[in-house]
Amino acid sequence: MSETMKKQNIADYFGCNVFNETVMRARLPRNVFNAVMNTKNLGTALDSTVADIVANAMKDWAVEKGATHYTHWFQPMTGITAEKHDSFLSPTDNGKVILEFSGKELVKGEPDASSFPSGGLRATFEARGYTAWDPTSNAFIKDNSLYIPTAFCSYTGEVLDKKTPLLRSMEVINQQSLRILRLFGNNKATRVITTVGAEQEYFLIDKKLFEQRKDLLLAGRTLFGAKPPKGQELEDHYFGNIKKRVSDFMKDLDMELWKLGIFAKTEHNEAAPAQHELAPLFTTANIAADHNQLTMELMKKIALKHDLVCLLHEKPFAGVNGSGKHNNWSLSANDGQNLLDPGDTPQENLQFLLFLCAIIKAVHMYSPLLRLSAASAGNDHRLGANEAPPAIVSMFIGSNLEDVLYALEKGKTYLAPTNEEFVIGVDALPNFPKDATDRNRTSPFAFTGNKFEFRMLGSSDSISCVNTIINTIVAQVLSDFADELEKADDFDSALHKLMAKTISEHKQIIFNGNGYSEEWVIEAERRGLPNLVTTADALPHYLLDDYVKIFENFKVYTRAEIASRTEILLDNYSKVINIEALVMLDMSNKQILPSAIKYTKELCDTIISKKAIGLEGGAEEKLVKRLSNLTDGLSEAIDTLNQKIIDSKNYNVAQELSKFCKTEILPSMQTLRVLADELETIMPESLWPFPTYLELLFMI
Ligand code: ADP
Ligand code: MG
Repeated sequence: MSETMKKQNIADYFGCNVFNETVMRARLPRNVFNAVMNTKNLGTALDSTVADIVANAMKDWAVEKGATHYTHWFQPMTGITAEKHDSFLSPTDNGKVILEFSGKELVKGEPDASSFPSGGLRATFEARGYTAWDPTSNAFIKDNSLYIPTAFCSYTGEVLDKKTPLLRSMEVINQQSLRILRLFGNNKATRVITTVGAEQEYFLIDKKLFEQRKDLLLAGRTLFGAKPPKGQELEDHYFGNIKKRVSDFMKDLDMELWKLGIFAKTEHNEAAPAQHELAPLFTTANIAADHNQLTMELMKKIALKHDLVCLLHEKPFAGVNGSGKHNNWSLSANDGQNLLDPGDTPQENLQFLLFLCAIIKAVHMYSPLLRLSAASAGNDHRLGANEAPPAIVSMFIGSNLEDVLYALEKGKTYLAPTNEEFVIGVDALPNFPKDATDRNRTSPFAFTGNKFEFRMLGSSDSISCVNTIINTIVAQVLSDFADELEKADDFDSALHKLMAKTISEHKQIIFNGNGYSEEWVIEAERRGLPNLVTTADALPHYLLDDYVKIFENFKVYTRAEIASRTEILLDNYSKVINIEALVMLDMSNKQILPSAIKYTKELCDTIISKKAIGLEGGAEEKLVKRLSNLTDGLSEAIDTLNQKIIDSKNYNVAQELSKFCKTEILPSMQTLRVLADELETIMPESLWPFPTYLELLFMI
């Protein structure tokens, strides 16, 4: 196939497995199509009479494409997606079957809810749960099933998933943003949506090597492993040439994502060896969340087809960069404006400046919520290490905008710098206008031209939680602003006063320096910015009254729902650490220790043989001493870790257990690891019981 033919085909198969607008337009009666579109674009409730018609059209389309089953696809609080498949088959009176799918089946499903985490919201015997069709995200076909995106809640109405709160928060920020737009005389826009683009980092390693390591198999990350002689210090991987096996995987992945209407756009190598990144084009937050879940799932599946394994863990390897997920977030009105686009003269764009002030205030006031949206046992290994944003939330807005804001605060006129050209200094190459500000890649919450990029998320996180939080906290501030401005007699002067006050009270959150530095930790403390280092420190903040109040106020979560989420996350943190500790013990007892003992015996035998012919033990004696010191140490570290695991059984309150895991179990795991990693450096390759970092990172 020629390149041009391939290119033409992309347009043909892009979205070919999606029940999208084009398909609906062709297959639905006009009034039904309009009703569905109004729901998608304006959030109006869908009339129940249209469900039957949509369901039937969906089924016909899906069956033509080879589907035999349908599934309500949802996002329980496990962080991944869940599905239960039913076939379209219905028996008829004469013993035959027909293919059927009713509006009732489209709109509502009843999976058993008892096997999904509820964080104490429900007793284990309470099993009834409902899934409800989300018409704002398109249905699609995958593996011969029609997938219907749905929300998931319990019989008594508690939310048990990640989609519902996100949808609620999108509604809330829509309403509050519209109030602000009206104040600026905009009566045209009728809907403001949250747009999101989630950049996804991941590692690819060889499947055969993966299978030889219990830690990768069971914990998704290496729990042992000495540094290879070469890591990422030469920085030769970042944006480097992509290896054939990896590029085949990427092509395959792109194709499958495109078929599902997911705009995978950029793929490149990342900083660490074997690390890569995929960036999609941005879309509505809810759809971006669905798409990111599908992307993660397909990455794993397609890697296997290429005898590779895709690692989505935040820190699969110590000593090289971990993987994050960048959540690019903005607000867009249906009159075509991106509300976070400053335009060429931001100093005159008061509407933009007001939204900017609202976001600054929201991030400053509610930073622990943002921090905890990225909290997990896996991400704790990354945040605050020298590769990812610190655990301290701050904002970067660039020096130009900062100057604009400070002029506003002081009531002075802002003098824009003259437009500079970027001069490359080679006549044959064009000069181009320089971007107004440089970037800052160490900032957790950075303004990048016409959107904010939240960089704390871990690679395996769902993006729903963080966007629910950003939407709700910004909506809260917009609502306070609107309350104040709507009652002002003189809008202009009230607006300037409000902005000056906001900047003066909240500018401590703005930091343009190096977020990776030690000085920042000290400076942040001076500014009173929280530094919630681990998940165990961050999560309890979810339940602070001030925070619960805003979620309840906007009906995004009830207190009980937040409590349940906190419980689930803390419980997950402790469980992950417990599993990792057990895997370490297993690998130590069954693999590392026996190998070291075997090597000790070999050395001792050699020493005896040498001595028998009158030679000194020399090198072997030196080595065996070191070896046996390390094995003794290892054996002690095993005992200590073992005891800690036993002790942890005394804690049954989630918060206390998580603290114990953080302060007692994790350090004991680290002690054990250090000894094992040192052992690895003196053991012969042939006796080391599993593949090393060198093989995992460089042999692909
Ligand atoms: P950058 O150079 O800042 O990485 P890109 O244009 O490559 O910028 O975008 C990075 C990510 O941000 C992409 O996923 C992109 O779709 C997303 N993005 C761009 N504009 C917006 C927006 N208005 N809202 C949300 N996400 C956006
Ligand atoms: Mg980015």
